[in-house]
Amino acid sequence: MQNELVKIECCRAKDSCPRALGDPGELVKYVTEALKNTNYSLRRQKVLQDSLKHSKVFKISLAGCPNCCSQPQIKDFGAYKAIYPEVFEEKCTLCENCIRQCREGALFLDGSNKVLVDLEKCIGCGDCLKFCAQEAISTGQEFWRLIVGGKLGRHPQLAVKIADVACKEDIRPYLEKYLEIQLDSKDPHLRLGDLINKESIKE
Ligand code: SF4
Ligand code: SF4
Ligand code: SF4
Repeated sequence: MQNELVKIECCRAKDSCPRALGDPGELVKYVTEALKNTNYSLRRQKVLQDSLKHSKVFKISLAGCPNCCSQPQIKDFGAYKAIYPEVFEEKCTLCENCIRQCREGALFLDGSNKVLVDLEKCIGCGDCLKFCAQEAISTGQEFWRLIVGGKLGRHPQLAVKIADVACKEDIRPYLEKYLEIQLDSKDPHLRLGDLINKESIKE
């Protein structure tokens, strides 16, 4: 979906991607509402007048898992679905298969022989749910991770996390906030990532 001033991209999760944890297409409704509520395109057009360039397009990218094929890390605003696993020790036989297979090294045995998840390392890919033959790992916390401020160009930078939201509709107030930051910029030619850097804008 695209108009002159906003570009919205989704990964191919809904085309039966086997890794999908959620359908990013379900977020588009709330993204569209945020754009409408802020009257983004009309207000931005007034500020930019005739100086529309590709770099002035507000880019939004949505993905169905942390593999992030639609590259939300380099867009102004991004969201991707993630889950943290939950391990049930009653079913666990301590085979350690999940520990060996987690590519992030996020699963470990603690001193009392329980499999635990290191949330500093876990990226929420959900792969470990498929590793356990005992079905001792299931879905714990599910969320959409929201990230802002990514860009390429002369000074590239990756988007930073602003929040994990459990409900799809909760993307809307966050997006509205960052659209307003873009619209209120004293220098309309700066990207959202530049504004965040300059003004230390936090959640
Ligand atoms: S981001 Fe995840 S769900 Fe989307 S296409 Fe890539 S692997 Fe599939
Ligand atoms: S793969 Fe399953 S049974 Fe084996 S250690 Fe992990 S949780 Fe336990
Ligand atoms: S969700 Fe992914 S990163 Fe986290 S523990 Fe499971 S396999 Fe490792």
